[in-house]
Amino acid sequence: MHWSFPILVVRGTVVRIHLTFLLFLLWIGWANYRQGGPQAATESVVFLLLLFLCVLLHEFGHVFAARRYGVQTPDITLLPIGGVARLERIPEKPSEELVVALAGPAVNVVIAALLFLAIGGLPSEAATELQDPRTGILERLATVNVFLVLFNLIPAFPMDGGRVLRALLAWRMGYARATATAAAVGQAVAFGLGILGLFGSPMLLFIAVFVWLGAAGESQAVQQREGMRGLSVAEAMVTRFDRLPPGSVVQDAVRGLIRTTQHEFPVVAEDGRLLGVLTRDCLLRALHDHGGDWPVTEAMRTDIPVVPQRQPLEEAMREMQARGLPVLGVADELGRLVGLLTPENIGEMMLVRAAQPAGAEAWPEGGRRNPWGTRPVA
Ligand SMILES: [Zn+2]
Repeated sequence: MHWSFPILVVRGTVVRIHLTFLLFLLWIGWANYRQGGPQAATESVVFLLLLFLCVLLHEFGHVFAARRYGVQTPDITLLPIGGVARLERIPEKPSEELVVALAGPAVNVVIAALLFLAIGGLPSEAATELQDPRTGILERLATVNVFLVLFNLIPAFPMDGGRVLRALLAWRMGYARATATAAAVGQAVAFGLGILGLFGSPMLLFIAVFVWLGAAGESQAVQQREGMRGLSVAEAMVTRFDRLPPGSVVQDAVRGLIRTTQHEFPVVAEDGRLLGVLTRDCLLRALHDHGGDWPVTEAMRTDIPVVPQRQPLEEAMREMQARGLPVLGVADELGRLVGLLTPENIGEMMLVRAAQPAGAEAWPEGGRRNPWGTRPVA
């Protein structure tokens, strides 16, 4: 995320703090200073930092639960509206998603319980006024943790409650239908919050917009994943592309770059194996640094993986995204390069699938038919 700075690393998860969060701290401190002097300013900032510690622990609840199912979390970002843990993926088994979603609020339940124990019972109006300021902070912190639990269990994406609802629904219907239903419930909740917000609470209105967008985003992401389900790499790969023999030079690839729409040029050995890929960036860098006669085998990337053509598309796509690769090679049983997979052609494939009427053949077998009509395709 832009404008965020790493502050610590916990077991491979980087905790980042967003600039707006620091500005928010400053603003709260300053506002309290103007009202109540230095003591009020310190107290408010300390309270806010403790509150965000609780939010951070909440996020780590998700992180450690997800880790149990083999899902890593590269980073957590602290924003003024809360924490965002970027899980590598959401576990799709309903029981696992349920545990991961509940683990966050469970942390706040524990914190609240411990704090109430420490201050000796549930807060009462009279007690609050008599107590010294430090107990006041603990008490407020306990109350806020209760609020965090309730807020996060609102049954709407992107709140944990939305995921809990989806996991419960996914037991009875498919994952896609469960998501659509949970998203619809979430948008109804957002609408209700929005109406309430109109009668005097701008904060509620803000939350309503946040929830509405979260619900829409989640169902879109799932639709995309559903669109890929059951497809293999072979069905989405590009099969017509220029290749370079290992003896060629950068100038040969320049011709290809201009003549075709291709950006990545596989360098293929005589026996059909992929030796490496000359990406447009590599090509331009080699041209600039060494000139057109530089051998492509010196300029190419050799870290591009080759996947078997029967591999599920979803898996290949995940690997491509996780490692930020511009292309994957696809090989047949003998290890010969038969295709390339790029984010662009996967995107086109999704568009085609979305345009097809429900129940239509997923993809024309072997390119026999054009998906838009009966015009034969060579
Ligand atoms: Zn959460």
